[in-house]
Amino acid sequence: MTERIGFIGVGIMGRPMVNNLVKAGYPVTIFDIVHASVEELEKEGVPAAVSSKEVAEKSDVIITMLPEDPHVEAAILGENGVFAGARAGQLVIDMSTISPVVSRKIAEEGQKRELRVLDAPVSGGDKGAIAGTLSIMVGGDAADFEAARRIFEAMGKTIIHCGPHGAGQVVKACNQIVVALTIEAVSEALVLGSKAGVQPDIILEVLGGGLAGNKVMEVRGPNFLNHDFEPGFKIKLHRKDLGIVLATAEEYGVALPVTALVNQMFTTLVNEGQAELDHSALLTHIEKLSRHVVGTTEEA
Ligand code: NAD
Repeated sequence: MTERIGFIGVGIMGRPMVNNLVKAGYPVTIFDIVHASVEELEKEGVPAAVSSKEVAEKSDVIITMLPEDPHVEAAILGENGVFAGARAGQLVIDMSTISPVVSRKIAEEGQKRELRVLDAPVSGGDKGAIAGTLSIMVGGDAADFEAARRIFEAMGKTIIHCGPHGAGQVVKACNQIVVALTIEAVSEALVLGSKAGVQPDIILEVLGGGLAGNKVMEVRGPNFLNHDFEPGFKIKLHRKDLGIVLATAEEYGVALPVTALVNQMFTTLVNEGQAELDHSALLTHIEKLSRHVVGTTEEA
């Protein structure tokens, strides 16, 4: 059976994910509170609904890809939300990065309505969303995960059931620690190497061939080298994710000293008006601390 899919939130990630679902043969209905976001897909023939409730009414499986906790709660639990239009047995998959606590709450509310709920955050960024190679980490019942597998395969490559409700979000939190701290480490390496007189592209090339090699350098290398901070993944969203990480750490009595420090750096960038830039713009913070613009002889 080819399920009818409802997709809510067609921003940087949602739009290409919808494209890949359509390519895989799924009929998709979309909704976004910002009309400009749906226009491009509408032009390509993807129908738009007027509310999340209508999306649920017209679909068998509903996917949300929204910025933060309050957006997901509004779109799923709100008056005109998914649950208001859903039927017993329907599958609701939240692919946003949100708090595991909110994911569990949504799953509980869903169970009361006999709905099946999965948390399925992703990594791989806008490039992975476009290529259909996202990593998808899933929390919820194993049977529901299996039922959704073919849908996930249309959008991603590494698709893993991580455990019960909320487990997908926990793994995503782990992922966001590594990405943030790697961006910070690459930034420090580039500022040191460049201010000491070495071309930054040489630094990336050499580091990429050894133990220091990593995906951040591979995917975001050109952003660092060209100071191109068009998002990508916005600083405000990565700061939101580190907020989730630190709250989860607090809940379990876990100390994350360096994550806390990088979170402060993101907060500084947000306060300086850089919230909408790509997270690789963390480089500019390190440049300012050392009064050096990578790849130039200029002061930051
Ligand atoms: P985005 O801001 O580009 O898109 C979010 C979309 O949701 C927007 O179009 C917005 O209008 C819409 N929206 C907000 N509230 C809504 C509501 N109540 N109902 C319907 N639509 C609503 O964000 P994005 O970069 O696509 O990220 C989405 C999620 O994916 C976030 O949780 C983010 O942390 C996560 N994520 C992003 C990336 C990335 O590289 N951009 C990578 C992995 C995970």
